[in-house]
Amino acid sequence: MLADTARFREDDPDALVTASLACPICLHSDDVEWEAALEGYDPSVECRCPRCEERWRVYLAPQHVLRLGLMAGRTS
Ligand SMILES: [Zn+2]
Repeated sequence: MLADTARFREDDPDALVTASLACPICLHSDDVEWEAALEGYDPSVECRCPRCEERWRVYLAPQHVLRLGLMAGRTS
């Protein structure tokens, strides 16, 4: 599985956070599916692109965990 590290800032708007999780193959970001695994030693987000069926994992720093936790809380 491809792996990346998150590049957004904790005060970025949702759109930029979503854009930072864009597909590494086709750069599509609008309907990338992502599932956050924010617990544990190595928090990450597992992403899936509905266009190219690519899956990848984005590793998160603590400030990213907080930021994505807020987004996940709103959308689910
Ligand atoms: Zn893609």
